[in-house]
Amino acid sequence: NAYYSNDERNLEFVKNFQETHTNLQHENATILMLVRNWELEGALKSMRSLEDRFNHLYKYTWTFLNDVPFTDEFKEATTLMASGKTQYGLIPSEDWDRPSWINETKFEENLLNSEKNGVLYGNSRSYRNMCRFNSGYFYKQKLLDQYQWYFRVEPDVEYFCDFQYDPFKLMRENNKKYGFVISIYEYENTIPTLWNTTKQFMEQYPQHIHPNNSLEFITNTSPIGSKALAIQSESDYNLCHFWSNFEIANLDFFRSKAYNDYFDFLEKTGGFYYERWGDAPVHSIGVALLLARDEIHHFEDIGYIHAPFESCPTSRYTRLNKRCVCDPYKEANIDMTLHSCVPKWWKFGAGKKFMNE
Ligand code: GDP
Ligand code: MN
Repeated sequence: NAYYSNDERNLEFVKNFQETHTNLQHENATILMLVRNWELEGALKSMRSLEDRFNHLYKYTWTFLNDVPFTDEFKEATTLMASGKTQYGLIPSEDWDRPSWINETKFEENLLNSEKNGVLYGNSRSYRNMCRFNSGYFYKQKLLDQYQWYFRVEPDVEYFCDFQYDPFKLMRENNKKYGFVISIYEYENTIPTLWNTTKQFMEQYPQHIHPNNSLEFITNTSPIGSKALAIQSESDYNLCHFWSNFEIANLDFFRSKAYNDYFDFLEKTGGFYYERWGDAPVHSIGVALLLARDEIHHFEDIGYIHAPFESCPTSRYTRLNKRCVCDPYKEANIDMTLHSCVPKWWKFGAGKKFMNE
């Protein structure tokens, strides 16, 4: 079974651990957190976990972004929690606030309707800014210009296992551009027209669609993608997306003409304000269309929680060798439920092939 085949590799990691872990900041990478001042405690929790499980051996710089200036209290505590350097960026208003061409009446109407219809975060104005920022503006921030890779971290997350390797290095050496842990179904009421808009994009920019894309993974056209196993969706899009609160990715992908043509196409429709498009489905559809399948990596061995879902390695040897503190058989482990898109990824993605190498 391919899913267990990295156990041997894991023993190799343990053996090589002492030799490899001394390479400080080996890759051109930063750990990135968009966060509010009042989320300090959650930010410190996430930092503590990632430092203990990975970064204290590598000391990658932490980059913090905010739409308002960080307080001295925030800077002081996060600086002391980091094993390496920290830097703090203020997001320019153009990259964060609602553009003036957005039709206010239409926007206000959607806020009200969303609240009535129980859309998650539907009545929050700042959440729309955040999703638009994370979709099309985070990689344009000055502090990131010098980097090729980022590791996205949110407040109040935890990593369950020792990494025992540098994920940036793993991605570079294996030609990976986008890495995820959890993949689930999106709430359809947040993205009523996202798929139609995407189809128009595909018609207009066929040159950007990668010949070895992951369309099979995100559409309902194949047997395992059929409605029998999936959450029912109105369109061909099966609502599968990579949960973007965890991301390790190549910034050059987001800087590419292909991704920016996609983002600009979406942006022009106003869907980030007339609907509540999340950055997770936007990144995921972008990645699925514009990258080769095997440029996407499933980090099945990390173990991760962002409430209410978590992922815990199924392999007992992985859990022991990597000192994981989690239980794969409990309900919160999304991978074991029908809400996970990971089985589809095993079937249609490249993770399986990679593990067999
Ligand atoms: P959820 O993960 O979808 O439940 O949403 P979160 O509240 O965790 O927000 C996602 C990320 O964006 C987290 O890193 C938050 O700290 C950050 N975030 C959300 N809203 C704002 C905001 O208004 N300002 C700033 N600076 N960060 C925000
Ligand atoms: Mn969150």
